[in-house]
Amino acid sequence: MFAGVIDFINEYLRINAIRRMLSIVTVRKSEIAGLVFLAALFAAFEGVGLSMLLPILQYAESGQTAITQGSGVIWSSVGAFMRVLHLPITLVVLLLLAFVPILMRQVVFYLNTWYSAVVANRIGVRMRMQTLDAVLDADPAFFDRHAVGHLVGIAVTQTEAAGEAILAVVKQLSVTLLMVLYVAIMLALSVPLTATTVAFAVLVALVVKRSITRIRDFGVEAANVNQTMMAKIVERFGLMRLVKMRDQKRAESQRIAEYSETMRAIRVKQARLGARIEVLADPLLMLSVFITLYIGITVLGMTLAQLGLMLFVITRLNAKVKEFNAGRQTISTKMAGLLLVQSTTADAAASNTIRRGPIVFTGLKDRLMLDDVSFDYPQSRTPGGEVLDQATPVLRGVSVEIPAGSFTALVGRSGGGKSTLVELLPRLRDVTSGTITFDGVDIRAFDVGTLRKGIGYLTQDAMLFNETVRENLVYGLDAEPSEEQIREAVEGAYAGFVYELPLGLETTLGDRGVRFSGGERQRIALARVLLEDTSILILDEPTSALDSESETYIHAALAKLHGRKTIITVAHRLATVIQADQLLVIDDGRIIERGTHEELIAREGAYRRLFESQLLA
Ligand code: ADP
Ligand code: MG
Repeated sequence: MFAGVIDFINEYLRINAIRRMLSIVTVRKSEIAGLVFLAALFAAFEGVGLSMLLPILQYAESGQTAITQGSGVIWSSVGAFMRVLHLPITLVVLLLLAFVPILMRQVVFYLNTWYSAVVANRIGVRMRMQTLDAVLDADPAFFDRHAVGHLVGIAVTQTEAAGEAILAVVKQLSVTLLMVLYVAIMLALSVPLTATTVAFAVLVALVVKRSITRIRDFGVEAANVNQTMMAKIVERFGLMRLVKMRDQKRAESQRIAEYSETMRAIRVKQARLGARIEVLADPLLMLSVFITLYIGITVLGMTLAQLGLMLFVITRLNAKVKEFNAGRQTISTKMAGLLLVQSTTADAAASNTIRRGPIVFTGLKDRLMLDDVSFDYPQSRTPGGEVLDQATPVLRGVSVEIPAGSFTALVGRSGGGKSTLVELLPRLRDVTSGTITFDGVDIRAFDVGTLRKGIGYLTQDAMLFNETVRENLVYGLDAEPSEEQIREAVEGAYAGFVYELPLGLETTLGDRGVRFSGGERQRIALARVLLEDTSILILDEPTSALDSESETYIHAALAKLHGRKTIITVAHRLATVIQADQLLVIDDGRIIERGTHEELIAREGAYRRLFESQLLA
């Protein structure tokens, strides 16, 4: 029985949900104190104002004698107050006394609404930043698992819901205080009638319980549909050319229409449940008023003044009961978004495994070594915890020595593990076993930020922002480069064409660089890498998607750097890397041949076969 009551209170006040919410959201103590203070102050003024109604009603009923006959807490405190201030007991004074606290209450209401908005929005921003920070800190592997649109939805929409959920909790707090206050006033008037009213409020809570649970379930569903829809829209917009080429406009809009339709249906169901709660609760609450009236008049023989005040308070209490139920609905609905934010943030935090070491990386001076390096793509899990893939072994026992200033080329069949191997060097992924050392220092001992900044990294995708050429070139540089340095890098990358544009370096690239050809974009990207002036350059098939003219430019640029920087390039076309100091043939996660072009041709093995097949092509 006792446990049942505790359970009921817990469920009614949604204490567990709120506690869970507070464990996810950081709310400062000062904010809680401020909100509680304002809510309490509001309730206090409301209480005083309401309590003043009884003396007024009694005065109206029986004039001055009300004071002498009037008993109870309310009259005695009013009487005492008036004696201290030497106020005459007249109707006007009593009315004024009741009106002042109501005015004060409105001032506090204003402050409370304002401060609640401040706190709720602060919390929303804080949640968003927490989530974004966790996501930005997550390992690259995290982004293999989550669609961009999903992350956008979490960071923008769902964190907003978190702020709203907290706002609802805060409102709930002041509503609860007011309910307590009304019950206290009613207790002062009549205990049995209070018991009746409270019993009805509990009955209402029981009746609407199921509807509120269902509203919560719909909230979860709505949040999930919203996330899926967001992810799909972002994905499809990113591949607009394919959508156009397959003439899929209708199919795509149909798909979004289906999500919207699901969403609409959920929203309508939620609204219907809300209406049902209202419809069920209202008659019950009205009934409680009638029963109070009946008991008050026939059984308790209350005075008109007492009964009047009682009814007045009950009506206000009932209004708060309804508000409270509405608050429970809102919390239930918004909670889903909050849980999504939490699970994504937790997943991001859990995939933040690449730790910063203490040593600042200042460039490769002697040699880079891989010693018996193996790498498995880890099992990935959905935010729900189910295993998506088994761990995939990709690299096996790779050992290689790369002297500083040398030119190394990785070649071999697609899927052999070349991209994975070069991603290990800037620690975009960490080795599963074995070690990678730069000048004898394990790369895990370096501050990963300085390590990555110390490596120029160019892939098939030029990685350009929808910003000006200049902004793309200087992105993430510690010091603003001079115009000469920029020009030198741009010309070194054969990207001088940007100076011939009407706006020069201030030309905006357009989304994903669409205003330039693939070759031009790649040369801008190379200029960025050259501007960084790092001792190590990693290139992962930078020219495989380019025309042969652009390819020639890029290789000419690299040839000029030969001997000055440590260059590691993954090459598809072998003709472009025959001058390499060292060629590594990678197949199925292992180095199967190594040497210079001449040595490997002489060996008549895999490299030679590959080379000859390309000559024929
Ligand atoms: P290459 O660059 O030589 O073509 P990759 O390093 O890209 O090869 O891929 C090597 C292997 O790792 C492939 O079999 C590929 O399927 C697998 N692989 C690549 N990326 C991932 C990933 N994010 N998760 C799981 N497996 C992956
Ligand atoms: Mg690759």
